[in-house]
Amino acid sequence: GAAPRATYLDGLNPEQREAVETTEGPVLVLAGAGTGKTRVLTTRIAHLIATGKARPSGILAVTFTNKAAREMKERVAALVGGVAEGMPWLGTFHSISAKILRRHAELVDLTSDFTILGMDDQLRLLKQVIQADGDIDEKRWPARQLAGVIDDWKNRGLEPHRVPKGEAASFAFGKGIALYEQYQERLKTLNAADFGDLLLEALRLFREHPDVLESYQDRFRYMLVDEYQDTNVAQYLWLRLLAQKRANLACVGDDDQSIYGWRGAEVDNILRFEHDFPGAKVVRLERNYRSTGHILAAASHLIAHNEGRLGKTLRTDDEPGEKVILTGAWDSEEEARLIGEEIESLHGKGHNLSQMAVLVRISAQMREIEDRFVQLGLPYRVIGGPRFYERAEIRDALAYLRLVAQPADDLAFERIINTPKRGLGDATVQILHNHSRAARIPLLQAARFLVETDELKPKPRGAIREFVRQIDEWAKAIDALPHAELARRVLDESGYTEMWQRDKSADAQGRLENLKELVRSMEDFPDLAAFLEHVSLVMDVNEGEGEDKVSLMTLHAAKGLEFDTVFLPGWEEGLFPSQRALDESGRAGLEEERRLAHVGLTRARRRLMIWFAANRRIHGMWNATAPSRFIDELPERSVDVREAPAQFSGGGYGGSRFDQIAAPFGSTYSTPGWQRAQANTRAQAEFGASGVGRGRGGFSEPRRGPLVIEGELVAKS
Ligand code: ATP
Ligand code: MG
Repeated sequence: GAAPRATYLDGLNPEQREAVETTEGPVLVLAGAGTGKTRVLTTRIAHLIATGKARPSGILAVTFTNKAAREMKERVAALVGGVAEGMPWLGTFHSISAKILRRHAELVDLTSDFTILGMDDQLRLLKQVIQADGDIDEKRWPARQLAGVIDDWKNRGLEPHRVPKGEAASFAFGKGIALYEQYQERLKTLNAADFGDLLLEALRLFREHPDVLESYQDRFRYMLVDEYQDTNVAQYLWLRLLAQKRANLACVGDDDQSIYGWRGAEVDNILRFEHDFPGAKVVRLERNYRSTGHILAAASHLIAHNEGRLGKTLRTDDEPGEKVILTGAWDSEEEARLIGEEIESLHGKGHNLSQMAVLVRISAQMREIEDRFVQLGLPYRVIGGPRFYERAEIRDALAYLRLVAQPADDLAFERIINTPKRGLGDATVQILHNHSRAARIPLLQAARFLVETDELKPKPRGAIREFVRQIDEWAKAIDALPHAELARRVLDESGYTEMWQRDKSADAQGRLENLKELVRSMEDFPDLAAFLEHVSLVMDVNEGEGEDKVSLMTLHAAKGLEFDTVFLPGWEEGLFPSQRALDESGRAGLEEERRLAHVGLTRARRRLMIWFAANRRIHGMWNATAPSRFIDELPERSVDVREAPAQFSGGGYGGSRFDQIAAPFGSTYSTPGWQRAQANTRAQAEFGASGVGRGRGGFSEPRRGPLVIEGELVAKS
């Protein structure tokens, strides 16, 4: 017919156009970062609507995050203009599943207003299930671990009766499956679903009610999936069921950006696609529209070091642009300071803050950077997670310190009186409250009083007495102990650190790192009061919406996003790649780290800066760190090594050419362990003795440090 000129197709290259216009049958777009995969999906939605092939409500589009879903909604709305017929079903696997489940809740033993449980509630419930068993040592088998085991099963689409019997042993000597079953029953009684249930119950709905499945198969004649490489088995099954009848399924993905293997995602889904959807049209996009030549060269060169790849070419017609800038800092604090300066300078030249992002490997790295931003008054937002001081473990730790410093802080008291668990029930806490209110005294004082009476049962009385004794003892030590040391003692003696050490869940390690980072950061303040004052000021900085702000997030949260300028701090062995990946015997962990690095590099449009620090405090101790092996995997001609900051000039680290620096650093990680250990010890010794690098004063004095030592080692060998 005489279709109106489709302006939304303008500017697409022939391959993109093909992926958009092949509306019937399965389509797989397998292409690298920035080649327009997401753009193909949005345009495809517009095309389906504009050509009348589908009504908006007949389209289902799956994104990886809610933020991505919102952005796609905006892009589609802009493309299709004022179509009044509503919008496609657009969201994450979880949000779409929730929507479907609410419509058919009774078929999966829920009612339409069922509750979606957060992590906290989920853990509380699991704890009850474990306790009800009566025979499980909770210290040995914490609820968090069970949560991890159950999540894993749910990610694989396994209801309790489908879990292979051999896997029961993964928790409490063979009790895993039974506990899983009881937990599911408890959820049903509570009319609740946890996150993993959303998918699992939707799968069950589809399997057990073919009529319902068919109604959705008929409804969603067109399905689209972004970030396909990170789907897990349950999600894959979900897609396959829905797409099976009409199979107008378009998936876009990039095996080089698969970064959720640890959460059950399977790159194999890409390979499975062609098998399960025979006749699938596979489209490859090779032109990158996002990044300049040097940035793309850096990303391609790096990822070529992975063996497990499907392999693809990427090219850009863009100019080479500025080279990737590599800067070594003396320590992580200087790194944060230099990044802050860089951002201010770019901002001063008219660049928007919202077009700059700092991407870190682990969330604990954010603390120093956030502190720096606050000092500079740089507006920033943390994407995909709470800001450092708002994390649960940090708030707990701060509550301990506040109560020690300020015994009348009732909020702090309430937060920690039963964290870690001291066997205090609501009734006990209520008694404390009543007395505190009646006598108009703070909770801590009420507690001190009540343990001398018989108002409390012996067990809680004992626990509270011990708690009060500890708080008093720490309070006495305020003047006697360095405050960071005091904090370490408080966290250790209270059992708080141990609580997370025993915890086997995936995020426990990160929380311990955050706690260490918190204690570490205290050393920058003269005393506990000054530190607490600082924290309350930092926490008071309001986020506010819509303003021009720098984005701060983990690399994992950055998937699919793009920024003019990207800062990648902390490229050091043991941090990035992570120590865990280095300790692993196979290559899988290291390759996933490298894909993560690749995701980071490919977020940048015009400017990319990579940073490493020669010293980083790990577990409160200064360590001389070696630059990441990923740095050596960057192509020399696309990288500019920044003239090392002042302190290096006196230390024989004057080289500004990549090869000069790459040589000593490049051999760092292949240096025999004993040499490394020696270098580290010497670095610490020198460091401790000279006391430089605390970051307070200037760096005018030439300093010698581990960088020089590494150079000497290399020179000798
Ligand atoms: P990622 O793998 O990182 O998710 P992607 O393949 O989804 O990347 P997009 O985000 O869709 O890539 O596109 C990257 C950038 O290139 C966007 O700014 C997009 O608008 C632009 N772009 C894509 N295709 C074209 C084109 N044909 N002409 C001009 N710009 C384009
Ligand atoms: Mg994308």
